[in-house]
Amino acid sequence: SSALAPRDHREPNRLWHTFCDMNAVARGPEFVVARGEGVWLWDESGDRYLDGTASLWYCNVGHGRREIADAVYRQMTTLDAYTVYGDFSNAPARDLSERLASHAPVVDPRVILTCGGGESIDTAAKLARRYWAVLGRPERTHLISRTGGYHGLNGFGTSIIGMERFRTGYGRLIEDTSVVAHDSAAALEAEILRVGPERVAAFFAEPVIGAGGVFLPEDDYFTEVARICDKYGVLFVVDSVICGFARMGNWFGIERFGVSPDMIVFAKGVSSGYLPLGGVVVSGRVADPFWNEAGNPFMHGTTYAGHPAGCAAAMANLDILEREDLFTVSLEVERHLDAALRTLSGHPLVAEVRSGMGVMGAVELTGEALDDLGITTAEVFAEARARGVILRPVPRALLVSPPLIITWEQIDHLVSTLAGALDAVAARHGA
Ligand code: PLP
Repeated sequence: SSALAPRDHREPNRLWHTFCDMNAVARGPEFVVARGEGVWLWDESGDRYLDGTASLWYCNVGHGRREIADAVYRQMTTLDAYTVYGDFSNAPARDLSERLASHAPVVDPRVILTCGGGESIDTAAKLARRYWAVLGRPERTHLISRTGGYHGLNGFGTSIIGMERFRTGYGRLIEDTSVVAHDSAAALEAEILRVGPERVAAFFAEPVIGAGGVFLPEDDYFTEVARICDKYGVLFVVDSVICGFARMGNWFGIERFGVSPDMIVFAKGVSSGYLPLGGVVVSGRVADPFWNEAGNPFMHGTTYAGHPAGCAAAMANLDILEREDLFTVSLEVERHLDAALRTLSGHPLVAEVRSGMGVMGAVELTGEALDDLGITTAEVFAEARARGVILRPVPRALLVSPPLIITWEQIDHLVSTLAGALDAVAARHGA
């Protein structure tokens, strides 16, 4: 056959989906998302679905907000793109960094802009190590993170992630990292002492663990963590990629615990995902050695840092969050979602419901369902999607994190559809 012969490119699909077994997806029909409006999505055949996960935790203001598209259009017809590097800046990047700095619970903040969460984690990790090197302490390289913590899948993110399945099969990862129990400040202190405080650069934590399965911190956890980091000089880096921009009723999630970290990593909700954007809010403590003395450049960055169209999207998104007061609204959504999800706790397949802190929740299945009956969360997910509600399956739980504009009626629709899906799966497996 000729090399130029046309090939049927529908069989198999040519698009390599990430986070999935392409052996299954390549030949099956893809689920093509065609359109979005509010909490709703439509597939190519016009069927409607409730977006119970705000895409991947990010569409805080809901889909189809014309004013964000208009802001991007205006920006792109003025200045399409230019990078923030050297002494180059642009107005949307400058305005956005000032706006974020004015709300961040960080002392004397500066803002580095990137295109997403994982890139920002790598930026924060490199900056933490570089900070100590600039201070003449190059041996302070060790990075501590938590079980269940998810910090993106770039080099450092893969190396500090608290879930084994994302770490294996890549050879030797970045060295000088370790993972501690997510629910114990004492475990953090013990690990700092084991490694030696003079070798520890930073501790990374999400306010509420998201992708790892929605694990809420104990009341005094972050107060203790902040005290311990302070005691040993360890930089405290908060990963607010999921928890930020009103998902926890405030700007960066961590405000809920009244502590002030050395760095905050953000992404997702900053632009509600309309364009890719992320970054790091850096405290004066960390920035000063670079800013106040000549000869200490941070030799790190990316081509699209401070992308003006992304920043314009973020500014328009933040306008919506403020104008519609989604910071306050989301606290009511949090309460209603929590109450609705808890009605599932009596279901025979459900071991535990975790919610009540932020607009997010996890419905964990029982060991009997998962390990004995062979039920998978993917099966429940598929059943719910066939009934018009999109959830997120992780190995032992179904996760929900809807747009913050969801109504009570839509929350009830989400939860009753999940209940129906659980019933159907239970019946299929004779549970
Ligand atoms: N950090 C957290 C807490 C996340 O949930 C994610 C993504 O889900 C990331 C970092 C990585 O962000 P990105 O996928 O934009 O690289």
